Amino acid sequence: MTLPEPKPLPPAETATIPVSETGVLRIDLAAIASNWRALRARVAPAECGAVVKADAYGLGVAHVLPALARAGCRSFFVATPREAAEARQLDACARIFVLDGLFEGGAADILAAGAIPCLASLAEVEEWSAHAQRIGARLATALHVDSGLHRLGMPAADVQRLATRPDLLSALDVVLVMSHLASADDPNEPANAIQHQAFDRLRRMLPSAQASLAASDGLMLGRSFHFDLVRPGYALYGGQAFRGSRAPVAPAVSLHVRVLQVRDVGPGSAVGYSGTWRAARPSRIATIAAGYADGVARTASADSGRAGGSVVIHGARLPIVGRVSMDLVTVDVTDCPVAVRRGDVAEVIGPSLPLETVGSEARSIGYEILTRLGRRFERVYAGSSA
Ligand SMILES: *Cc1c(COP(=O)(O)O)cnc(C)c1O
Repeated sequence: MTLPEPKPLPPAETATIPVSETGVLRIDLAAIASNWRALRARVAPAECGAVVKADAYGLGVAHVLPALARAGCRSFFVATPREAAEARQLDACARIFVLDGLFEGGAADILAAGAIPCLASLAEVEEWSAHAQRIGARLATALHVDSGLHRLGMPAADVQRLATRPDLLSALDVVLVMSHLASADDPNEPANAIQHQAFDRLRRMLPSAQASLAASDGLMLGRSFHFDLVRPGYALYGGQAFRGSRAPVAPAVSLHVRVLQVRDVGPGSAVGYSGTWRAARPSRIATIAAGYADGVARTASADSGRAGGSVVIHGARLPIVGRVSMDLVTVDVTDCPVAVRRGDVAEVIGPSLPLETVGSEARSIGYEILTRLGRRFERVYAGSSA
């Protein structure tokens, strides 16, 4: 698979938007690679993998995975068999783990992708083992145990049963035992230590293999949470969800969109669908070329009684007003110290508006903002040779 050469970029603040585009989504592959290296340094000697599910959190796995592989990453995690097949096209040698596990009847597909399913139930173990026996091969396997998230993974009773059924595992090469934390973003949450203990107890009942508990936030909880391999996703893309210290990562994504029109409205004027926001004073409203089809959350809308999201124009943080619609967002630019004009650029995500801010102003999280980024603006990949 050949990819277009990334274009050289001006600094994001001076980014201009091509005449036929609504905006530019800038994805800094060098920053993503350098974030991975910083996390690897943080967890060494544990291995640092990378989670590239959901099209690398919406940023484009076809660009992100090769950049991480060049940085030295050898273990990738995806959610689904289809994502595994796509990842395999991008890297012939890396280990590719499928977090959703084994779908009924899906063993041949996983195998065709050369991927490793994170088996999350006895039924999955039985099916994968039967497939191994059928084809007469020992199959690489990850076992996903439930240490307290109660979402996906084998409950303790199943792990115990598996421990007494060596026949089930004899055809399998268990390379990884993993689990996932529920509250890793909060270092003061007692559930972290409880899950750590449960994971440690469960993994000792299983064949000796690499152990993995921590994702982006878990690896910030300290060395004892690193085990043999960590699986960050969000932090690689510049996310800072951890509520303790800052993760050693830098922003890797920015979104700038054009201002289409600026208008003055009088006090009492309603702006946007259903007139949910009314000007309380003579106001200047800028309309920008992005909407919920582009990933600006509709929950970032603002009524007269309730604040919503914001954008940055000429360095000023300015509030979204009225409803976010499919293609357009209206912004109150009355207080912008520099007059806003048609053709100006509004920062929607970037140095002044980190993912966490955009997420919380939309009553959501940065993860959802990333994975819902639209396909309509120009995507520019920078720094791929890092
Ligand atoms: C998504 C996911 C990860 C990555 O989580 P981040 O918070 O993005 O680092 C790791 N492990 C599992 C099981 C996941 O579902």
